[in-house]
Amino acid sequence: MQFMTSPLLESLPHLYHGFGMRTEEDLAGIVFPKQVHGDRVVTFDSPVPETWREEADAVITTVPGMPIGVRTADCLPILVAEGTGRGVAAVHAGWKGMGQGILPKVIKRISEHLQIPPEDLYVAVGPGIGPCCLEVDIPVRDFFEERGRGKLFMACARPGSPDHWWLDLKIMALRQAVASGVREARVDVLPYCTRCEAAYFYSYRREGLAAGRQANYIVLKETEANR
Ligand SMILES: [Zn+2]
Repeated sequence: MQFMTSPLLESLPHLYHGFGMRTEEDLAGIVFPKQVHGDRVVTFDSPVPETWREEADAVITTVPGMPIGVRTADCLPILVAEGTGRGVAAVHAGWKGMGQGILPKVIKRISEHLQIPPEDLYVAVGPGIGPCCLEVDIPVRDFFEERGRGKLFMACARPGSPDHWWLDLKIMALRQAVASGVREARVDVLPYCTRCEAAYFYSYRREGLAAGRQANYIVLKETEANR
């Protein structure tokens, strides 16, 4: 399987991670939630088998050697890490997840769980649909407004055809991370648009229901100290 990596997360010595690309191979050993475009976050402090499958769109773990992940095909895969190897998170966020504030929720949850300030966290936003390809309509804007995120929506949107907007989910993720207390220099946003880059990524908007999914993962390294 081929993966892209975030230079920012690569600089952290206590973890491995990857943002998946198109592949025929399947991946074994990763704990994936059953994603439902919601905002439920689950936290694991002890290992679960890869057959675990509950509805959630974000997973946090403190368990070394247990890879967690999310599958994406236009939605954003977002990986979060504490800098000294105490915890990591994988988040699946399309516009619904962003509108429900799943990323701020994960940042708050992992900070509280590890008893650290959010500024100790690193966030990497992987390949997902770009503002070049994500045109949304009034119900999407209303979804944000109804959840108190109308201003955030407008700050990350530019006008498209009448009553439509081109939405930039990646900038939205950056803004939400920074508003949650993460330092801007500790947020990495990969530029690739899954819909534009057909050779490298599956895209729901381009390929429809038959589209495959990118597998994205993060795992704390096992060491003598934490085994
Ligand atoms: Zn695009």
